Amino acid sequence: MNVELALNSSTIEQLVTELCDALGPDAVATSDALREQHGGGETYHPVAPPDIVVFPNSTDDVVKIVECCAAHGAPIVPHGAGTSLEGHLAALYGGVSIDLTRMNRVLAVNVGDLDVTVEAGITRKQLEDRLARDGLFFPVDPGADATIGGMVSTSATGTTTVRYGGMRENVISLTVVTATGEVVRTASRARKSAAGYDMTRLFVGSEGTLGIITEATLRVHGIPDAMAAAVSAFPTVEAAVECAMQVVQFGIPVARMELMDEVQMAAINELSNLSCAVKPTIFFEFHGSAASVEEQAREVGEIAAELGADDFVWSTDQEKRTRLWEARHMAWYAALAMRPGSKGLATDVCVPISQLAASIRAVRADIVETGLTATIVGHVGDGNFHVVFLIDPDDPDELALAQEVNERMLRDALEREGTCTGEHGVGYGKIAILELEHGPAGIALMRSIKDALDPAGIMNPGKVLPS
Ligand SMILES: Cc1cc2nc3c(=O)[nH]c(=O)nc-3n(C[C@H](O)[C@H](O)[C@H](O)COP(=O)(O)OP(=O)(O)OC[C@H]3O[C@@H](n4cnc5c(N)ncnc54)[C@H](O)[C@@H]3O)c2cc1C
Repeated sequence: MNVELALNSSTIEQLVTELCDALGPDAVATSDALREQHGGGETYHPVAPPDIVVFPNSTDDVVKIVECCAAHGAPIVPHGAGTSLEGHLAALYGGVSIDLTRMNRVLAVNVGDLDVTVEAGITRKQLEDRLARDGLFFPVDPGADATIGGMVSTSATGTTTVRYGGMRENVISLTVVTATGEVVRTASRARKSAAGYDMTRLFVGSEGTLGIITEATLRVHGIPDAMAAAVSAFPTVEAAVECAMQVVQFGIPVARMELMDEVQMAAINELSNLSCAVKPTIFFEFHGSAASVEEQAREVGEIAAELGADDFVWSTDQEKRTRLWEARHMAWYAALAMRPGSKGLATDVCVPISQLAASIRAVRADIVETGLTATIVGHVGDGNFHVVFLIDPDDPDELALAQEVNERMLRDALEREGTCTGEHGVGYGKIAILELEHGPAGIALMRSIKDALDPAGIMNPGKVLPS
């Protein structure tokens, strides 16, 4: 642990005074409740509260905060909606949590160029409401109502990534305050550019360790003329995964293709009052013209039938569609409700799609053998899936067992040329496995980037790379 980063009480007091002078007292908080709330997020990792929480209103405010922190060598942890899952927000060395949620304005909607510029603290649902007025939507939808800054920083993806890509594909440009207080615009608004290093992508997935994102220009899309949803229940998980593989391999441009195993389906039925079959199931969505949606649904229905699906029900009814996807987005809470009082440990691997069935089969066997309670959900079109373990928080042995299964699952994914995280990121929970994925040379390259951009090591210390 880099104890030199921890602040003593007189430095904290001085920093509070300086931050109040710079931002006004309404923007600075030190209550236990707010500090606790900012040091955890929706994760099973223990809470580590920051010393101070600040609420900037503008990029200029963020510059002032960074200048104050840098002068005292104070750690900085940027904070969005707090929905990350790998201990990203734990203030391992105390310091200042910068909560960006007051910076939630839409700065420009360029309908003709299909892009939008927003402040980083806007949530995806706030953005969705604003864009709908112009017949547009932003496609990346992690289940939670995350902020755009958090989604950029974790390289988030979601149910529509199979068709529209994730944050990496949908961010055009960023405004970033660096660890030394400079303001950098990473790219122009042009759709493509060969002008030097790709600074935008450097910050995508950087988890607050390289700088603070204050604005983002994003690609948006026109709301399709027609949309349809379908549900298909399969005899086995393998059959469901085979269906997803064939849909991808035949190039059917599905907009969503989400797998849930039978345990997750029982949980969803219960929480969202659905009456789906309690079998491995895929929810599909199709976008396009009315004719193209019908053709996609027919083609997918034929593949599903060949693989033994019971029935393949599709509908353009908006109410049914919304109900289905709301239920999917509540999958995490549905799983938690199966075991009241439990904490969720969400795993996240991504493998080449040809390896997906074998990867899921291996972890299912492991779950059965250990007797743990767990559900499986997956963005199967991307080869990405999650096991959600429901852990008794008072039983350390159960947590240790789930972590052992997770470890085996991660190593299995690497052996299949996959990755230890498709979308949740590294935080501090996956630092060790990241070293295995990238090897010493890869980690050393990342370290040299970190040291160049954050020479004092104050940006979200202890995350992504070993301290
Ligand atoms: C129910 C549920 C479902 C989920 N489903 C998905 C899913 O389908 N796909 C997916 O990708 N993730 C998913 N997640 C994880 C989570 O929602 C994403 O990681 C999300 O992108 C985090 O955004 P946030 O605003 O909550 O960020 P936070 O949790 O607040 O922060 C995440 C990280 O980003 C950094 N950060 C935040 N804002 C900034 C900024 N402005 N500048 C620099 N750094 C910043 C933080 O320091 C931290 O390291 C899910 C989580 C839950 C609880």
